[in-house]
Amino acid sequence: MTQALELKAPLSGKALPLSQVPDPVFAGLMMGDGLAIDPTSGTLLAPCDGVIAQVARTGHALTLTAANGAEILMHVGIDTVSLKGEGFRPLVAQGASVTCGQPLIEADLGFIAGKVPSLITVVVIANSDAYVPQSRAEGALTAGQSAFMSVHAKGEAKPVETVAADAGTSAWAVVGHGDGVHARPAAMIQAAAKGFNARVVLRFAGQEASARSVVALMGLGIGHGDRVEVLASGAEAEQALAAVVEALQAQSPSAHTELGAESAGAPIALGAGKIGGVLAAPGLAIGPVAQFTAADPRVMETAGELGAEYNALAQALATVRSEIMTQVHAALKRGDKALQAIFDAHLALLDDPELIGGAERAIGQGSSAGCAFRDASQAQRRILLAMNNPLLAERAGDLKDLERRVLLAISGDVDEKPVVPPRSILIADDLTPSDLAALPADALAGVVLARGGATSHVAILVRARGIPAIVAAGPAALQIENGRQVLLDATTGVLDTCPAAEALQDAERQIDQRHAMLEQVKRKAAEPAQTLDGHAIEVAANIANERDAREAVRCGADSVGLLRSEFLFIDRESAPTRAEQQVAYQAVLDAMAGRSAIMRTLDVGGDKDVPYLTLPPEDNPALGLRGVRSGFARPALLDDQLAALLATRPASKLRILLPMVADVADLLRVKTRLTELAAEMGVDELPQLGVMIEVPSAAMLADQLAEHADFLSIGTNDLTQYTLARDRCNPELAAGLDHMHPALLRLIAQTTAGAAKHGRWVGVCGAMASDLEAAPVLIGLGVTELSVSPGLVPELKARVRALDLAMCRREVQPLLQLASAAEVRARAREIWPQA
Ligand code: PEP
Ligand code: MG
Repeated sequence: MTQALELKAPLSGKALPLSQVPDPVFAGLMMGDGLAIDPTSGTLLAPCDGVIAQVARTGHALTLTAANGAEILMHVGIDTVSLKGEGFRPLVAQGASVTCGQPLIEADLGFIAGKVPSLITVVVIANSDAYVPQSRAEGALTAGQSAFMSVHAKGEAKPVETVAADAGTSAWAVVGHGDGVHARPAAMIQAAAKGFNARVVLRFAGQEASARSVVALMGLGIGHGDRVEVLASGAEAEQALAAVVEALQAQSPSAHTELGAESAGAPIALGAGKIGGVLAAPGLAIGPVAQFTAADPRVMETAGELGAEYNALAQALATVRSEIMTQVHAALKRGDKALQAIFDAHLALLDDPELIGGAERAIGQGSSAGCAFRDASQAQRRILLAMNNPLLAERAGDLKDLERRVLLAISGDVDEKPVVPPRSILIADDLTPSDLAALPADALAGVVLARGGATSHVAILVRARGIPAIVAAGPAALQIENGRQVLLDATTGVLDTCPAAEALQDAERQIDQRHAMLEQVKRKAAEPAQTLDGHAIEVAANIANERDAREAVRCGADSVGLLRSEFLFIDRESAPTRAEQQVAYQAVLDAMAGRSAIMRTLDVGGDKDVPYLTLPPEDNPALGLRGVRSGFARPALLDDQLAALLATRPASKLRILLPMVADVADLLRVKTRLTELAAEMGVDELPQLGVMIEVPSAAMLADQLAEHADFLSIGTNDLTQYTLARDRCNPELAAGLDHMHPALLRLIAQTTAGAAKHGRWVGVCGAMASDLEAAPVLIGLGVTELSVSPGLVPELKARVRALDLAMCRREVQPLLQLASAAEVRARAREIWPQA
């Protein structure tokens, strides 16, 4: 074995194992193996002689290549890339030869400390496939003097490819990472490339780098929105190319919101009484601590008779399935798509042949049902976690939730749910989506989890609910006594358990300011939303029932832009009668007190299942009997709904909307039937009839549809899914499912142009209408109505009032020529920054 390379401590402070770094990418060794320091000095010294291979543009990190070839990456602080160089002064440039102990970076620790989650500095061997750390220091370190780590070569260092002369395939990617390709995105790209038998090279600004070398990747100096060429060759070139392009394009808005894998974090010493964690949902919160500990479910270790154990498992699975179905329906009813998607994923896991087969095999070998399911689930979780992939780690979290539910169902015990006084900061080792779903929406001021991950479904839920939260805060958080007043700054990832009066006041002021801003926009909510140059945009509400209609009026909505009538049909044994429907529609129109309401006919099928309709099972439900097609398959159902709508008064305020129309034939079929029914009922004033544009063919044929329809309303949720061929219910495809994609913009432009030919107006009722960044784009493209959930009306109106329509029209056109949603977003942010 060759002689070891001895590194000296680059900073003074305390040595920490990487597992204690509050960043899952470093803690999970995705950047390589090494050692961390909780620093007390701010001048980073060279740990050995070598050549500077790369210096981050923002001066917070660099890589040194030692004489033996080991690449030593030093990264000062966590999430420090977000400081964009403030607080750092690099003292060396790329290519410089340095000697051990030479100062490399001057970091102003006092300045940096308050702005990032942690100062912990990481030193890793970036080419860990060829070099390994052996002995590592423990305890206190003195910069330039203490022994830090020794590094051994594993054997022949593998040459890293840098040129793809024989590249078999190539593609362009636009970088979605908010801070460019810094350490974490580089690790993601490397992980994506590693999975395939292929050589992948990135080409940018005349330089090339192997996708397998994080150092080389960072050395390219790629920024957010840059276009990068990716070249791949080898047996799995196509797959590797796709994976690397996806990793480059992934949207990580900034270092603070990047996602991390599930990790068992440790408390981070940030100063007396402060505990650090990983951001899950931004914001500030003050409140009393409410600790929640879920007891482990009871598991019978000894098995009974074989048949009884099989039965116990089958019954528990059936119970859990029906509980989850109920929750899916409840989430669907509330329009809580995030929760619905999560429970749908849980249902899929219940059918997982590896999991269920594993448990059944174990019962066959003499295990009790509980032991068998627990062991099968734990085996699957271990496999998922070992893959070091955030998405798979998220799946492991789901499996844990499911395991708990199944074990409770087997034991017959009742689950304990968190009991939380209003506006508390809930602290738990970990939470499941089921725990969170059981809590009333206003119970929580904030959430702190000792474990968990930023990609977990609980994190998605707290983000969707706007509850500030941190995860991976370590076991110290579990020691805080109930009722203690704490301050959570989730944006910087710090829980202050003894907040100084000044800090509390400051936080209260900021929380109040945000509330005041919201209050201010609420005060003007009932006024029309006019652009600066005097054009009115109708801001409407998406609702499900009469209660929502009242809320919409309270929030200042000008009208209802979408009543999803399917909510009337779910959670029942049979379809509502004509009379029942009429009562429900009339109640909504009455609640709108003179404002108009667009009511959509039943949109079931696809992901919206209504069991009693017994629509035939389909291989591709999203492409099957969905929306208006399910009405054609069940004409009596469509007739009942149309008749109930025709009986709703006044007809002048009612507009009927047809979902999933593909072309004029669909529209005319319903229109003819509506006219026939009106004649039969003696109704002579017909409500307006509109068409949803949510299938690409409808957007392309908008001019033909507008000839026969009174208005068009774009369902961007489905239009995005069908245009980009990405299932809207598959969380793994969610990152690329962006309605700002230029393909969508072109279809929207085609829709408004088609409508204009016949003097029709166009609205948007999909999620794109709620995206404040998209508002200027939509109105620039000719949309005149935006329909969002009631609570968003005031902020959207305020946004519209700050826009100039003529300018939006002018600036939007070049966006249609861009190549990706990331490019569109980057440009839209520049043109229309938000206050
Ligand atoms: C849409 O597809 O954008 C839409 C509004 O309909 P839903 O989300 O109900 O499918
Ligand atoms: Mg839709």
